Amino acid sequence: MKIAVYPGSFDPITLGHLNIIRRASRIFDKVYVAVMVNSAKNPLFTLEERMEFISRTTARFGNVVADCSDKLLVSYARDVGASVIVKGLRAVSDFELEYQMALANKKLAPEIETVFLTSSEKYSYLSSSIVKEMARYHADLSAFVPCEILEDFNRMVEERSNLK
Ligand code: ADP
Repeated sequence: MKIAVYPGSFDPITLGHLNIIRRASRIFDKVYVAVMVNSAKNPLFTLEERMEFISRTTARFGNVVADCSDKLLVSYARDVGASVIVKGLRAVSDFELEYQMALANKKLAPEIETVFLTSSEKYSYLSSSIVKEMARYHADLSAFVPCEILEDFNRMVEERSNLK
């Protein structure tokens, strides 16, 4: 069984992420979408909220599992029996850091391959940060955020910006 891990912050999951997940779910038998704890980022949503958003939007795929981890990515991949790490590449600007991480991970775990899926053209500019910024200005986000979470996402952004 070919198992893959798709790691990220997913704060929140966007249609760009979902496009990569859908394609990965066709290539691999099982895909773990793993919310990784990143001390350098200050997320708007809790780990549980981000995982729940992922579960809700990926339930229809059948072979996708939402999970989270505070471990090193390759340790997490080994724990779940994954032999592949999936990454989405949006633009050349993503490449340098992703290339560096892929090489470092290869050194740490030579048996695990990093596979890059090119972002679909229509989502190549999309990021979780842009989506959060636009939500603060009440923009229509139906072309960017999965419909299953759109209402909750807008409400939660609104509640959290009122607290600031
Ligand atoms: P973001 O930059 O949106 O905060 P994450 O840390 O959640 O992204 O990203 C997780 C993975 O998803 C990374 O491999 C990233 O390159 C990829 N990704 C993010 N947004 C997109 C998109 N719009 N299209 C394709 N891949 C994406």
